[in-house]
Amino acid sequence: LQEGLYCIGCGALMQVKDKEEAGYLPMSALQKQLESEQLLCQRCFRLRHYNEIQPVSLTDDDFIKLLHQVSEAKALIVYVLDLFDFSGSTIPGLPRFVGTDNPIYVVGNKVDLLPKSLKDHKIKDWVRGQLKEQGIKPVDVDLTSAAHPANLDMILEKIDDLRAGRDVYVVGTTNVGKSTLINQIIKSKTGVQELITTSRFPGTTLDQIAIPLDDGHSLIDTPGIIKADQYAHQVSDKDLKYVLPKNEIKARTYQLNDEQTIFIGGLARFDLVSGLKDSKTSATFYFENNLNLHRTKMVGADDFYEKHQGGLLAPVPKNTEAGLVGHEFRTKTTADLVFAGLGFITIPAGVTVKAYAPAAVSVFLRKAMI
Ligand code: GDP
Repeated sequence: LQEGLYCIGCGALMQVKDKEEAGYLPMSALQKQLESEQLLCQRCFRLRHYNEIQPVSLTDDDFIKLLHQVSEAKALIVYVLDLFDFSGSTIPGLPRFVGTDNPIYVVGNKVDLLPKSLKDHKIKDWVRGQLKEQGIKPVDVDLTSAAHPANLDMILEKIDDLRAGRDVYVVGTTNVGKSTLINQIIKSKTGVQELITTSRFPGTTLDQIAIPLDDGHSLIDTPGIIKADQYAHQVSDKDLKYVLPKNEIKARTYQLNDEQTIFIGGLARFDLVSGLKDSKTSATFYFENNLNLHRTKMVGADDFYEKHQGGLLAPVPKNTEAGLVGHEFRTKTTADLVFAGLGFITIPAGVTVKAYAPAAVSVFLRKAMI
């Protein structure tokens, strides 16, 4: 590739090597474009012609630059979170960068995955509580399901109201459904013709989509930040369906004796080390509905996993060699034991449990959501 060719859509340096990175274009298309003198990377080309957005990955360094940019702007921040993978979708350091002047409006996405019986206001209170622990006080919280957003108009009106003449930055980690939401906004707000891509960060790969608003300001879609502790990075593409559920999660409750184990497919393991004294211990599992739960005894569970991984206990993480790492917890209140990006188990106060997952995956206790 000749040096120094830039995409007129996003400003990214054109390259023919890496499909996932900014500025990518297949060699054949490059030849054609050079003839027509209209250089667009594949992402911008598709955006112009098919109104489709492709995610671009972002390194931590890029992300820090992006946050600095946001902190210097006068803007409303729309913070998109995944309600089913809440911790995995939070952006560390966001409040520090956003500053005190830029309000944060939280859109909790994938509400369709939570039990329908759960009231919206309860979810919103829980979201506020979780964010408070991270020093974030949003101006407002709304819930949606980006795939079928019944309340998109309300959210757009809210954005217009809250931005009070400022730009809007939409931020979120990968897999929260930000592209899905942005595509819905584009559909509702503009025609393809009006859609522009701009680069506010010359010399970096931070290309972004700017959707023009009525008063000359823009709604800016920022690239999704990748969080390595999400379970999605641990499974092969064909198994992604187990970590990105499509339908309402059905709660599965087990009455467990001490020293019983539940395998979550071959992806994770839960041990009840010591449960309630006077009764069995109830544990409610929230995982993708097709992910099999298998009960066995703690004694021998290691051998059982060794023998049945990939068979009875499937799917398994991409890197089976590394095995699962155990973390022990004792609950003080009713709590969710979270396997970041895979699901969670609600357990009562006063029990000791051990949770196993691949080393890179975060496992922790939080205030019960449901
Ligand atoms: P991005 O990386 O944040 O841009 O996320 P995408 O828009 O690519 O979505 C990531 C995954 O979540 C895809 O598999 C989507 O189909 C799925 N998804 C997006 N929005 C929703 C939603 O509202 N509900 C459910 N169940 N899945 C969603």
